[in-house]
Amino acid sequence: MLAQQAIAYMAANITEVGTLMRSLSSRYEEIFTNLRSALGVTLEQSETMAGAARDATAIADAAAASFRESVPNQPGTACTSGCSACCHLYVQVPPGVAAAMADYIETRFTPDERDALHDKLTVAAAAANAAEDPAQLRLRCPLLGDDDRCSVYDVRPLTCRAFTSKSVARCHQVVFGVEPAGAGVEQNPAHFRIHMEATFALEQAAKSRGLPHQQKGLAQALLDEMQAPKSNA
Ligand code: SF4
Repeated sequence: MLAQQAIAYMAANITEVGTLMRSLSSRYEEIFTNLRSALGVTLEQSETMAGAARDATAIADAAAASFRESVPNQPGTACTSGCSACCHLYVQVPPGVAAAMADYIETRFTPDERDALHDKLTVAAAAANAAEDPAQLRLRCPLLGDDDRCSVYDVRPLTCRAFTSKSVARCHQVVFGVEPAGAGVEQNPAHFRIHMEATFALEQAAKSRGLPHQQKGLAQALLDEMQAPKSNA
């Protein structure tokens, strides 16, 4: 093969693969557009915001599982049960999530456990409300059990589900380090994005029902729901 023929052959090869990659990249983006649409249509039909939160969580969980199973080269995770560094970060929840958690707590916790949780939530909410920037707080989550496991794991917030890490050391550095301000833990982009889409969909669902749509700190949101009379909002 002459040099000019080899150059033309390689250029055609690379052009073809480049076209395929551009098409794949746009198809990849469509996954998130389609997820957003599916969430929007589903949450519009959810009877309550607590139901919408359960639906959004189920869809996000399933989408994340499909990603793990079907898309190659996903980043590994160092996350294991009982590793709770991230449970010392400030958590915010979109509408409906705290209501779904309160429903779960009502049926699964004893009255004494609910009283104890209420006291812990009151302390955590006061600290967040008094903080200039609650995101800088590093406090143990009131829902973290004595065994360092989430006591409401089945209904934990989308933010908690979104968070993953490739390095326990990095989590400890960011959460318990001397200068954690502004530091972050690298996230699995697709996994994180899926849960942010679900969060956004809940904000939109509340907005379209004429309800407050802003995210709230977990402790205050849960306190409000545990004290609220049950409604169909
Ligand atoms: S709700 Fe559960 S998973 Fe989320 S920060 Fe609290 S203990 Fe951790």
